Order: sequence, then structure tokens, then C-alpha cells
Amino acid sequence: MASVLIALGGNVGDVRATFGKAIAHICGMAQAALTARSSDYATPPWGDEEQDPFINACIEIETGLDPHALLFVLQKVEQKFGRTRTKERPWGPRTLDLDMIAYDDVRLQKPDLTLPHPRLFERAFVLVPLAEIAPDRVISGIRVRDGLSSISTQGIERLPDTG
Ligand code: AMP
Repeated sequence: MASVLIALGGNVGDVRATFGKAIAHICGMAQAALTARSSDYATPPWGDEEQDPFINACIEIETGLDPHALLFVLQKVEQKFGRTRTKERPWGPRTLDLDMIAYDDVRLQKPDLTLPHPRLFERAFVLVPLAEIAPDRVISGIRVRDGLSSISTQGIERLPDTG
């Protein structure tokens, strides 16, 4: 079984409800166990600032699927929740974005899948929830908590649990 970190994001619709359903679908389709789930965070829009704030979270799962099979599952779950890549503008509004952050210590550079995720350490909206569930995980030679301490987390706000 592999330990996989996945980042979730979205800013269209009831994103927190979408996260709950998406996580259940990922675990079902990937025959995975959910081993950790961060809080949800409200985060300022990134890249294209003319849009609503995002909600972001991270999960850790244990799965027997290989990285590409898991990527296929993540893309199916994005599609199920209304994401149509062709209609989106880059960095624009989206119902659900799922990124594989790390898959054990696998390093991969393929046209459709790079592991660990290459832009992880530029993105506070991923590092903040990730540091909540995996502060001591070393990814690309950097400890998550150290990566977080070297970037600005301005505007990122932890949301209260929905219960
Ligand atoms: P985005 O629109 O930012 O979610 O990017 C999705 C595209 O990135 C897809 O075409 C994926 O094949 C590709 N990709 C490359 N590496 C990863 C990764 N680690 N996790 C998710 N998607 C990835």
C-alpha cells in the first residue's frame, strides 16, 4: 500500500459539501483508506484574482493503486463534480481541483503526471492544510513545516468544523 497526499480546491458551489462527497468517491474508487483529513481553509484566489475565494484542504490516503491509476480516479472524480477543463480559463473558477502532491517517495516526470507535485512549495494554499496533517513529511528534500515557514500565508483562514 502507498501513502498518498492529495490537495483539494474549489470556489464554485457548496465546495465543502463537494469535498466530503469527493473524498468518499476517491476512497471508494481507489479502494483506499482515508488516513488523515485537514481542516478546510478559505484562501485568496491565486493567479487570476478576479474571482471568489477558494476553499482548500488536504487528505492522506492509503491505496494499492499505482500513480497513473490513481490520477485516472482523481480526474473521474473531478469530472463527476462538474469540472470541464475545456470550459475553464487557467487559474479560473472551478468546482473541484484534485492534485496528487506526493505518492510515497516516488519521483516521476511524465507528460501527464509529475511527482512530487512541482509547484507544492510555491503554494501556501496547499502547504497550510498539508502541514496540519503531515508537518514532518519530507517531500523533494524539504520538510513540509519548513516549506511552510518560508512563504507568506497572508489571507488564509481556517474554517470552523461543520460538525
Ligand atoms: P490542473 O488543471 O492544474 O489541475 O492540472 C491538471 C493537469 O496536470 C492534468 O492534465 C494532469 O495530467 C497534470 N498533472 C501533472 N502532475 C500532476 C499531479 N501530481 N497531480 C495532478 N495532476 C497532475
